[in-house]
Amino acid sequence: MSVMFKNGLVVTSTGSYKADVFVDGDTIKSIGTELFGQADEVVDAGGKYILPGAIDPHTHLAMPFMGTHAQDDYETGTIAAACGGVTTVIDFDLQQKGESLEECVERKKSWADGKAVVDFSLHPGIMDPRPEIIEEVKKAVRDYGTPSFKVFMVYDFRVDDATMIKLLEATKKYGGLVQVHAENVYVIQHMNEVFEKEGKLDPIYHAKSRPNLAEEEAIARAAKMVELTGSSLYVVHLSSMEGLRKIQEARMKGLRIYAETCPQYLLLTEDRYKEPDWQGAKYVMSPPLRTKESNEALWKGIAGGDVQVLATDHCPFDFKGKKDMFGRDDYKKIPNGAPGIETLLMVLHTEGVVRGRITLEKMVDVLSTGTARMFGLKNKGEIAVGKDADIVVFDPKQNFTITCSKLHMNVDYTPFEGYEMKGMPVAVYSRGKKVAQWNKDQLDFVGEKGRGRFIKREPFEGF
Ligand SMILES: [Zn+2]
Repeated sequence: MSVMFKNGLVVTSTGSYKADVFVDGDTIKSIGTELFGQADEVVDAGGKYILPGAIDPHTHLAMPFMGTHAQDDYETGTIAAACGGVTTVIDFDLQQKGESLEECVERKKSWADGKAVVDFSLHPGIMDPRPEIIEEVKKAVRDYGTPSFKVFMVYDFRVDDATMIKLLEATKKYGGLVQVHAENVYVIQHMNEVFEKEGKLDPIYHAKSRPNLAEEEAIARAAKMVELTGSSLYVVHLSSMEGLRKIQEARMKGLRIYAETCPQYLLLTEDRYKEPDWQGAKYVMSPPLRTKESNEALWKGIAGGDVQVLATDHCPFDFKGKKDMFGRDDYKKIPNGAPGIETLLMVLHTEGVVRGRITLEKMVDVLSTGTARMFGLKNKGEIAVGKDADIVVFDPKQNFTITCSKLHMNVDYTPFEGYEMKGMPVAVYSRGKKVAQWNKDQLDFVGEKGRGRFIKREPFEGF
């Protein structure tokens, strides 16, 4: 199967140019002007962008959490990804007590078996840091193809600072990257007790119990561990202006600290928690939504290069029956998480590029090229000869109003309901095969269940 994309604007992280792109089988074979040659399918991409498929490196497909589980599994989650122009997912794979990292990786791979419609990889999450697990980091980097490791500084399954330091040393030695959920657990525990006594249990207290300084302190502490070890660190879902400042200070010192943020932290504020009828529960995620000041600071952090990756933290729970029931009368019991995998690219294009906050090239960098480099996806993230043909044909003039019923995520709401989009994917290809197609007023999934492959990633190189 071959496809010729004619006359599109090829967008890379460093510039854009008009060209034809020829794909044969899984890969991009040639790029040039007025390419000749036969193709099974010819796509007129005049007036459209040819973008590398987005990579979402922060998802929780089918993850058990807080008495329930994230509702998108590998089938529905990757279908939604495909329909949003996301052609690679790096999913969190949280270790169970007693498991080796290999068992952990094999277990989650088996959940994807026969289901994934786009390619995926895994980040093992270290929850049971026995000495042999720290030893196993070497194998995970070199043999399993999973060189990034998630740790939490919060929740019951957090690791202590000594474990984080050991992990930073191990990843430095073998070419891995530690990813951290940075919030100070004791601040949060204390605030929870205070609000419990005062009977303050509405969703807004979820935000108040996790103040910006909890993130700021944890990032500052993690930065000291990086300074101590000379290792590298990736901060997941950065949410606050204060946290960003700590990252900037560390980077000014020459420390290799990288950051990811998500659309919800760029666009939404804690006012959402005050929506009537307990609807604020929809936005209960950790870290919580912040204020306008943090939104604006994070946009500047992306534009200025201190935030290198955009992700979603996709972890959906229905509002009706889950968010509103489990946590009824107490914000602490509301399952934490929100959907986002399908709206990542469209929202970043409209709110970032169309509104002039970032360039089109920067969008490609934080969604694809930079993400592939960060996580060792050597065949992904770029429209270039030899790379996988993960391609989004994007129409910058196509309008779309975000509404839950036109999306494919397995959940009953979207935090971006009613947002007016300018620019949408109109066709999405995963390794040369079409997986999503614009149809009248929405995207339809046209791919094949089980075609998505587990991708072994390269060790982290640092930059
Ligand atoms: Zn997460």
